[in-house]
Amino acid sequence: MTEDRKTKKAAATRKCPVCGQESWRIIYGMVMPDVMEQNPKAEFAGCVIVPEVRIYPATGKVEGSIAKWACQNPECRHRWW
Ligand SMILES: [Zn+2]
Repeated sequence: MTEDRKTKKAAATRKCPVCGQESWRIIYGMVMPDVMEQNPKAEFAGCVIVPEVRIYPATGKVEGSIAKWACQNPECRHRWW
């Protein structure tokens, strides 16, 4: 039995809306080492979930949620969802 590497999904990244650098998905909770191997481009936040607040530009409403994406630019570190 051989493992078909082509079925392995590519790491999904996004562009930071602030600086345009690559941003990685934030994965919360306890994960197994094989999950980390499958997601080399992800931040693992463990069980510490920090709700963040932002003002949504389109509506001007204040929203609170949990960041899903983290900018990998060390000078930016923008987090959003
Ligand atoms: Zn950024």
